[in-house]
Amino acid sequence: MKYETVIGLEVHAQALTKTKIFCGCSTQFGAPPNSHVCPICLGLPGVLPVLNRDVVELGIRAGIATHCKIAPYSRFARKNYFYPDLPKGYQVSMFELPLTEQGFVEIFTPSEKGGKKIGLTRIHMEEDAGKNIHDGIEEGSLVDLNRAGVPLLEIVSEPEISSGEEAVAYLKALRAILIYAGVSDADMEKGNFRCDANISIRPVGSSKLGTRSEIKNMNSFRFVQKAIAYEILRQEEILEEGGRVIQETRLWNEKKGMTFPMRSKEQAHDYRYFPEPDLVPINIDEAWIARVKNALPELPDAKRKRFIKTYELPDYDATILVSSQALADFFEEAVSVYPKAKIVSNWVMGDLLRELNQENKGIAEAPIKAKQLAAMLQLIEDGTISGKIAKIVFEEMVKTGKDAAQIIKEKGLTQVSDEGALGEIVDTVIAANPKEVEAYRGGKKKLMGFFIGQMMRQTGGKANPGKVNVLLKEKLDQPS
Ligand code: ADP
Ligand code: MG
Ligand code: ZN
Repeated sequence: MKYETVIGLEVHAQALTKTKIFCGCSTQFGAPPNSHVCPICLGLPGVLPVLNRDVVELGIRAGIATHCKIAPYSRFARKNYFYPDLPKGYQVSMFELPLTEQGFVEIFTPSEKGGKKIGLTRIHMEEDAGKNIHDGIEEGSLVDLNRAGVPLLEIVSEPEISSGEEAVAYLKALRAILIYAGVSDADMEKGNFRCDANISIRPVGSSKLGTRSEIKNMNSFRFVQKAIAYEILRQEEILEEGGRVIQETRLWNEKKGMTFPMRSKEQAHDYRYFPEPDLVPINIDEAWIARVKNALPELPDAKRKRFIKTYELPDYDATILVSSQALADFFEEAVSVYPKAKIVSNWVMGDLLRELNQENKGIAEAPIKAKQLAAMLQLIEDGTISGKIAKIVFEEMVKTGKDAAQIIKEKGLTQVSDEGALGEIVDTVIAANPKEVEAYRGGKKKLMGFFIGQMMRQTGGKANPGKVNVLLKEKLDQPS
């Protein structure tokens, strides 16, 4: 039997606010345990929450940026369950009247070049829970409630993702949108962007969804991809053996490279959702939505389209260049100085990103500035250096942060274009390789590559390849 994969993702992104969603406590990361708490986020009896307006604003921004409809009327609901990191015994979330619904995120993968729209079911606001600490404690466990009440946006996709590759493309695209829009810093290491993956398989051609498992709380693209691959195999094996997949929550164990069951899946009715009586419903008028819309910067989708149109870049280049605002800015700054966009794009996507990835650095920490790259490209264009020498110069720029012109001067890397000087070297090369010269003159024209190689060796790669070609041809084709 042939199966196809169906995936729906739930993302929790921390909204970028200074204070928590229902109290004035700081959201700052890494503070000593239980230092950012107050009676409200500790869930003490008799206190009342007050909604942080910034969270609503960021929720609206997220909604608009993902083409969602913003609900004119929404409200919070209590999701009741017991867990030690949840002092109130319920989480304030949204249920039947979420903040925004029905949007999409467009993804581009090598197998889905034209782009594929992944539907968004909803985006709602909710509070985060605290954190239970088990490691390194001899007896019992500890609870840190700094995170309790930190604002989250939960972004739920439709079950329209068909592979691990698409899941990662979706997460990257969504993350870029949230960062561009200033909704979240989406710092995955701090847990500010984490994902639950719902995965099922079904026979190809079937329109009925299979039973899903839900892999909770992953904060790395790599883990998501590996967990999905593992789940697909696990479920296929069960079905092939005539078994039934059970609906359950599982966890990805990176050390073992497997998912393990955590608990059987609760249904919505287990949570006894009901409208939150301590908070008034939220009314959002058109004017507010328009204000937020007008204040949004150019988002990845629009930037991508513009890059393709104005710079005549391939889809692939544009998709990579807009993956972060800083990278897109770097590219545009370089192009403003050196306007051959495709050449700039090749260097940025190839040499520069390779360097940065090797050093595990972001573009903001790039050792070379956009203007420096542009200046180097201009030197290739002028004929001051060859494309080959440029690679050496670039390496050195990355290492030292120096300008290309300075490196070329210090290292004497200027391209040799002088015909007199080159002609003399051509003569030496011809004199030193009589057998090859004879073969060439006898018709083995492919040997031209050999002679060019010799010229480059003689000049330390500095000979102007165009000039060398002409001079070699002249002297080789003229029988002595
Ligand atoms: P819950 O809140 O219990 O996790 P939801 O109905 O809100 O359940 O669905 C959560 C996510 O699961 C959504 O992203 C949805 O697209 C996805 N999903 C639902 N059913 C399936 C399925 N059979 N296979 C894959 N994903 C699914
Ligand atoms: Mg879920
Ligand atoms: Zn508080």
